Amino acid sequence: MYILRSKYLLKDPDNVVDNGAVIIDDGVIKFAGHYKDVDNFGSYQIIDLGNSAIVPGFINTHTHLELTHAHNSIKNDGIFTNWIRQLIDIKNSWSESEYALSVRDGIKSSLKSGSTTVVDITSNGIALGELLSSKIRKVLFFETLNFNPNTANDTINDFKEHVAEIKPDNLLSVGIFPHAPYTVSETLYRDCKRVSDEFGIIIATHIAETKDEVEFLARGTGNFVSLLNDFNMLNNWIPPALNPINYLKNIGFLENGCILIHCNYLSGNEIDIIEKSSSNVVFCPRSHSFFRHHDYPLALLMDRNINIALGTDSLASNDTLSILDEMKFIRNHFSNLNAQHIFHMGTIAGAVALRMDDRIGRLYPGFNADIAVIEVEDRGLTNIYDGIFSKNSECILTIVSGEICYDKYDLAKNNNLKE
Ligand SMILES: [Zn+2]
Repeated sequence: MYILRSKYLLKDPDNVVDNGAVIIDDGVIKFAGHYKDVDNFGSYQIIDLGNSAIVPGFINTHTHLELTHAHNSIKNDGIFTNWIRQLIDIKNSWSESEYALSVRDGIKSSLKSGSTTVVDITSNGIALGELLSSKIRKVLFFETLNFNPNTANDTINDFKEHVAEIKPDNLLSVGIFPHAPYTVSETLYRDCKRVSDEFGIIIATHIAETKDEVEFLARGTGNFVSLLNDFNMLNNWIPPALNPINYLKNIGFLENGCILIHCNYLSGNEIDIIEKSSSNVVFCPRSHSFFRHHDYPLALLMDRNINIALGTDSLASNDTLSILDEMKFIRNHFSNLNAQHIFHMGTIAGAVALRMDDRIGRLYPGFNADIAVIEVEDRGLTNIYDGIFSKNSECILTIVSGEICYDKYDLAKNNNLKE
């Protein structure tokens, strides 16, 4: 049992407490409020964080940790399928241990940047071992990828075998992740959805990411046709002649909620459908910028009260795995958005998408003690968000379920803290 105290405490984006304290007991928040309201100090050890901000840990709602070591190794020539071709070459050249190291480094930098929950996509299951030995909170999505409808069942059976070996716990949940409409057959999409309902696990997919994908589904032409032909995957495929979201709707994918990664290219009608289906969207701001996509329809999605969480995507299309960096990027590029809303996207919105908003994303009594501490340059701030989103702010302490997972200044040791 211990106390964090600091000049600033954000219990949630609209709830800033000056001179705040958080009591952590057995991995759970027992109290979050004014330091002066803590009674019986004698029984707690205290970590005094000075002028920093204690905030809810960030939720990275979409990443591929296994690609951490692909940083800076793929060039973007403006053609997405060329990026995919390079990625396939890299993945084929890696050994199992290279994958494992890549995941391990990805976890480390996630924790260092204040992310307490990562939603990771694994294509080969290697991430599981690394994630299980880490104290980070994780939602592990197994990627399914098979464009041949005749063998969809084999892919589903592989998935079921993987999942049967996993025992979800307080820190681990699993999900199913049909990769994208150009690598997953309609049959496999339907099967994945059925499995998601049957097992009660969440489902997500990459969707409406590129103009090429929109063209591929609408007309069956373009760069994805060449890519799939080169890999002998297209066979007798007939395009559905639909835009991406209508395609998903038609095959029942949007029923009972799901997580839609990207949604970079949407028509008004598709935004209507997302709103009506209560689906969640994940925006990956700097990956979006890396690929030089058209302007993101953030304002249009927000006007409809659609839940929009944030993801970093992988380091194959980004520079850090930091949700704090994503929020700073949004702050600099979407001037109409207020700071509270940006912070909501990096915390509560992720928890909502993962159906965990009753236990993570806010610092409330009874919630898991998933906490980040942000050191800010304090020159008489009138608004703490100016400090949190300033260029030089950084995470100095990350706590998941009460356990200290990153501690820049060895504060726990210096305070003789026994967690
Ligand atoms: Zn992705």
